[in-house]
Amino acid sequence: MSTQPQTPETGDTAGEEAQVVVVGAGPAGSTAAVFLARAGLDVLLLEKGDFPRDKVCGDGLTPRGVHQLVKMGIDINAPGWNRSRGMRWVCGGREVLIDWPSNGRYPDFGLTRSRHDFDHLLVQHAADAGARLRVGTKVTGPVTDRAGRITGVTAEVGKDKRPVTFRAPVVIAAEGASARTALAMGLERDPVRPLATAARRYYRSAARTDDPYLELWADLRCSRTGRDLPGYGWIFPLGDGRVNVGLGGLPHRKHGPLDLRGSLDLWLARLPEEWGLTEENADSPLRSAALPMGFNRRPQYSRGLLLVGDAGGMISPWSGEGIAQAMEAAEVAAETVALALTRPAGPQRERALGRYAEEMTRRWGRYYRLGNVVGDQVFSRVGYRPLLNRRTMASPVLLNTLARLLTHLTDQPAADTIDSVLNTVVRLVPAGGRRR
Ligand SMILES: Cc1cc2nc3c(=O)[nH]c(=O)nc-3n(C[C@H](O)[C@H](O)[C@H](O)COP(=O)(O)OP(=O)(O)OC[C@H]3O[C@@H](n4cnc5c(N)ncnc54)[C@H](O)[C@@H]3O)c2cc1C
Repeated sequence: MSTQPQTPETGDTAGEEAQVVVVGAGPAGSTAAVFLARAGLDVLLLEKGDFPRDKVCGDGLTPRGVHQLVKMGIDINAPGWNRSRGMRWVCGGREVLIDWPSNGRYPDFGLTRSRHDFDHLLVQHAADAGARLRVGTKVTGPVTDRAGRITGVTAEVGKDKRPVTFRAPVVIAAEGASARTALAMGLERDPVRPLATAARRYYRSAARTDDPYLELWADLRCSRTGRDLPGYGWIFPLGDGRVNVGLGGLPHRKHGPLDLRGSLDLWLARLPEEWGLTEENADSPLRSAALPMGFNRRPQYSRGLLLVGDAGGMISPWSGEGIAQAMEAAEVAAETVALALTRPAGPQRERALGRYAEEMTRRWGRYYRLGNVVGDQVFSRVGYRPLLNRRTMASPVLLNTLARLLTHLTDQPAADTIDSVLNTVVRLVPAGGRRR
């Protein structure tokens, strides 16, 4: 990649030391590295792949994600970014346009950009900020002290899989859904909490690539069960001649796994021919991946290790959105670590590090708890169709309320009545115990 890959010197099995090691350079890891480096910390960012590289995703950012990019100083006016004005929801032969809210603290537009470019840009930003990036570095496990506290990680570096140890008093696990480091530290996924699956494919579509709205379909069928898909489909314009088309869902344990390929075929067969979403216009294979949601791996801080993004199950159970969440959590993690490292090693620093999990629970705990219940009781059984009934589709107020609830675009303090109502509903959800 153009940011010098900087793999450790050949034969350097003794490894390297830093103040913080970050495992994984997706949105979570690169964002954490940016904020840590800006705080003046020596940070090693370890990535098993190289850039640019692909990542299975819908490539869509709501204004919440745009907000994070602006905070990081990413130039979103540069070429390559594609703006969205809002969402178009399609259900039961009807469609509605919902513009992103314009009166809150978030920007009033969303963005799309392929993860191939997006992740490359972010990691470059981290390297420019001063993070020491090591690509081709696959982390294989934690290094711990006698008390079981993490003090670094082991990795295989380069094609010859040279073993190298990277040491730091604090490690951030940002390696995505695999959550390898977290698992090796005994942090298992909570099987009761949601794990969705989704698949996407790129198509060349002159008709749809410049659509100013993100399009979402709520009335898809699962080809295997013949029932409503317990999720939704999307067509996200990329503005470069392509669209990102995909679908995902939260399969209910009673109904078994989803047939994403078959369900996509069923859906595409319904779409107008002139959109060109056909085999000959496909620009990639169909690829799928898991979406760990609703804080499904906890605690998010334990014995020197912070879990950020998909590694901590931070995808929204309401929408399946995870990029903004990964970046926001990464900023909180970086700030927490920077403050904690001003304290001497020991109980004081430990308490300061523990604040990360507390802060994430404070920000999203109730909202995710409610989302997990709605996901289990509604989305996984009947999908989104009942929410988008004739009455909702005909009422701008109901639509805006639903849109803001699903995309977490409420403001605090409330910017208007819709925010007030939603904030009150979420406040009424019990906070739960420490591990909830
Ligand atoms: C089909 C699909 C569509 C989606 N659509 C959207 C969408 O439109 N908008 C949205 O906001 N979210 C979407 N998501 C969710 C989003 O992709 C994730 O939430 C987001 O990528 C999480 O970022 P992350 O940095 O935590 O993890 P990742 O993006 O997975 O990054 C993890 C990084 O760690 C590296 N890594 C892994 N293991 C190791 C190791 N052992 N050693 C070193 N490096 C390692 C990986 O190579 C990768 O670079 C979608 C997900 C799927 C599956």
